[in-house]
Amino acid sequence: MQREEFFKEIESIVNVIDENEVFLIIGHVDPDGDCIGSMSAVAFYLNSLGKDVRCFVPGGVKKSLLRLPGAEFFVDDEGIEGFEPSVVFSLDAPTIARTADIVKRNDHRIVINIDHHPSNEFYGDINLVDASASATAVIIFRILSTVSSGVITPEMANCLYLGILLDTGGFRFQNTNAEALHTAGELIELGADAAGLARDYLYVKKLSTLKVLARALESLEVYAEGRIALMTITKEMVSESGSSMEDTEGFVDYASSVDEVLLSALFREVNDSETRVSLRSRNGYDVAVFAGKYGGGGHRTAAGLTIYACIEEAKALILDGFLEMLERGVTAD
Ligand code: 5GP
Ligand code: MN
Repeated sequence: MQREEFFKEIESIVNVIDENEVFLIIGHVDPDGDCIGSMSAVAFYLNSLGKDVRCFVPGGVKKSLLRLPGAEFFVDDEGIEGFEPSVVFSLDAPTIARTADIVKRNDHRIVINIDHHPSNEFYGDINLVDASASATAVIIFRILSTVSSGVITPEMANCLYLGILLDTGGFRFQNTNAEALHTAGELIELGADAAGLARDYLYVKKLSTLKVLARALESLEVYAEGRIALMTITKEMVSESGSSMEDTEGFVDYASSVDEVLLSALFREVNDSETRVSLRSRNGYDVAVFAGKYGGGGHRTAAGLTIYACIEEAKALILDGFLEMLERGVTAD
C-alpha cells in the first residue's frame, strides 16, 4: 500500500470514528497476542473518546491473553446478543471466514478491515492492509500516532508491544524489520514493559506445558534427508501431562528450529476427524499458498489450516505436499 493511499484510509477511519458512537471490535478465531493486543489498544482509544465499545472474538480468548490490559472490553456471545454497533473494526483477520462470519451479520454497518496478512481479501468498506507490517499492532500504532500525539497510554503501549513481540517471535522471525524495532522502541518510551512481557509471554511456562513439550519433542520425525520435520500432539499427550491444547501454541517453532529443516508442521488433534495444523518454512518456501489450497492461510513463512481427518491422514497429506514443494523448489513470485 502506497503511503498516500494509507493516509487517505486513515483519514476515512478518523471520519467514521467521529460520526459514529457504537463500535464492535472483532478478531480472528483462535486469536493470538497481536490480534488481542491490537483490539485492546483500539478499544482503549475509542473508549477515551467516550464511544460505546465492545470486543468480541468468536470461540473466545485464551486465559493468558485476558491478563492483558483491556480485558474489561471483551464480551462473550451473550455480550453481543442485541448489541447494535454502527461500525465494526475487524483486526488481524484476513478473511470473513476467519471471523466466523461475524462481519457479515447486519450488513448495513461499516466494516473497517485492518490487517497485515498478504492473503487479506479486502472485505471491508475501508481496508487498511499492509503485508510489509510485521504485525497488525504496527499498523494500529501508525494510525494512533497519526491521529494525534499523546493518545497512547502505557496500557495501550503494553498491548501493542506484545503484538509485535509475539508476531516477530521475540524479534527473531523474517518479518523483524526496522519499523518493528523502531515501533517497539517508541512503545517502550510510552511505557511498555518489555522485560515483563517477554518474561510472561515468552519465557515463563507452566510445568505441565514443559511436560507436554517433552512429549511433543519425542514425537519429532524428519523426512527428505532432514529437510522436513513433523511434530504431533494428541489429546492424550495433553491430558496425561495435565496441560491444555492452547498451551501448546508455538511448539511448531521447535520443529522448525531443527538444523537443516526447511519445512515443518505441527499436528494437533481436535478429534478423530479434525486436526489443526501449523506450518513453518525457511529459505523462501511459501506455506501460505500451500495452506490456502486446503482452506487455510497465513504468511509465507508461517501458516495454518484445519484438516478434517485424523492426525495420521493429515500427516500423510501434508508430507506429500511438502515433498512436492521440495521437488519443485522455490518459485519466484
Ligand atoms: P499458527 O500456526 O501459529 O496457528 O498460525 C500461523 C499463521 O497462520 C498466523 O498468521 C495465523 O493467523 C495464520 N493461520 C492459522 N490458521 C489459519 C487458518 O485456518 N486460516 C487462515 N486463513 N490463516 C490461518
Ligand atoms: Mn498478526
